[in-house]
Amino acid sequence: MTAIWAAIAAVWLSMHNWDTGESMKALARAFTEQPEETEQTAPQEQEEPAVSEEPAEQPEAEPEEEAKEEVEEEAPAPKDATVYPDIDRLPAEPTIINGILLANKQHPLPETYAPGEDADTRAAYEQMAEAAAAEGLQLVAFSTYRGFARQKELYEGYVAKDGQQAADRYSARPGYSEHQTGMAFDIGEAGQEQHWASASFGGTAGGKWVKENAHNYGFILRYPEGKEHITGYMHESWHFRYVGKKAATAIYNQNITLEEYLGVQ
Ligand SMILES: [Zn+2]
Repeated sequence: MTAIWAAIAAVWLSMHNWDTGESMKALARAFTEQPEETEQTAPQEQEEPAVSEEPAEQPEAEPEEEAKEEVEEEAPAPKDATVYPDIDRLPAEPTIINGILLANKQHPLPETYAPGEDADTRAAYEQMAEAAAAEGLQLVAFSTYRGFARQKELYEGYVAKDGQQAADRYSARPGYSEHQTGMAFDIGEAGQEQHWASASFGGTAGGKWVKENAHNYGFILRYPEGKEHITGYMHESWHFRYVGKKAATAIYNQNITLEEYLGVQ
């Protein structure tokens, strides 16, 4: 038997321009592990690593610049959450992760999803408004549930007025607004209407209070500063989303977004 193996090895080695020591070891392994394998099968299996090594060696031979470009192309392009996906119809079901409904530009809602204003969100908001009132701040939820049809009407009006590119910067397309969940409340302060739906709300006493206390009632500042690439929306100091106390507190304490909390980014 030894003579036969030696003959096979000799033939095989003569066909391959490999390091003899490594080839012998590989051959020995192949024969030890699979003694019944035919002469042809064992060498084929061993050929694979040699083939896969080739591409790694190629860039070294090429000019440095080209090699660099190749590396950049291979790296996956960072996902931009602000860009709408290229889809021609809305999904049939909403996205629910760990019991939390997610609605953003990458996870739109069905056209038929029409839950109305969420009762738990309203109850939590009333508790929060009561606590704020005890500190002399009269909160107002000036925009809560918005159905698909209403959002469509608004968006199409903005597109007609400013064009789609401009409208996309400040308004969600129908099916993509978190207000359609019934759990997003736009909050302002009574007598401070000039700050409603404005970045300036964040600098007011009411805006600061809500930002620091909302999580105790289950709300999060949904679109924080500097997280546009994750949430898909520019900072909105007035837009709060109800996610329940546990999630809201974790998100607040870790200074993260809902997307990061749910692990979708
Ligand atoms: Zn809003």
